Amino acid sequence: MTFSETLCKARNITPETSNLEGTCCMCGKHTTNGFKKKFGGNFSTADFVSNGDVICPECNYIVSNSNEYRRTMYYLSDDTFKTFKKKDIKEIIFNLPDKPFYLYLTQTWQKIGWIRMDQVYNDTVKGTIKILLDYDIIECNLENLKNVYDFIKSLRDLKISKTDLESGHFEMYNFRKLKDEYDLFKAREILEKVKSYVGNPIWDLALYIAD
Ligand SMILES: [Zn+2]
Repeated sequence: MTFSETLCKARNITPETSNLEGTCCMCGKHTTNGFKKKFGGNFSTADFVSNGDVICPECNYIVSNSNEYRRTMYYLSDDTFKTFKKKDIKEIIFNLPDKPFYLYLTQTWQKIGWIRMDQVYNDTVKGTIKILLDYDIIECNLENLKNVYDFIKSLRDLKISKTDLESGHFEMYNFRKLKDEYDLFKAREILEKVKSYVGNPIWDLALYIAD
């Protein structure tokens, strides 16, 4: 099943149909109930649209309701569609049931990320999973993400700013918090560890998830 089919099924949506036969330019599926390709001003995303000639009913439903799917984060499985807020990402992501799923996260609340959802299908939560963050596909291992998240949380608990964690350059007063909590040697070690993560998409994701 494609992403749009799974979504319609999970939400009990029966999409409208039309009468064009062809290949869907969004999901690549063959259809005899397709609509004419039409993209409004919001679709500056030609790069992600393949060269199909029609839009299938399920993808047409999403195109028609695009605002709903770009202004929220959601988890999708064959029988569940669940939207959630930023503060709940950690709860969702570290408690995923072990079954096939898609996960969409956003930092912009406006990009049409759903257009790439077919590329982030997961069979299981084990091993490497794919998450879509706006247009970016992030591949990670949940255990690894949790370790990075816990490390960040320990630093956030010491009130070290996200800006410093993002850049790897600690303000003196932030470094002092580390030194007071541990000792100079350990503080330097932690700073080096933070620096080694800078620019890593999993670090950025864990930082986004963290409070
Ligand atoms: Zn389609």
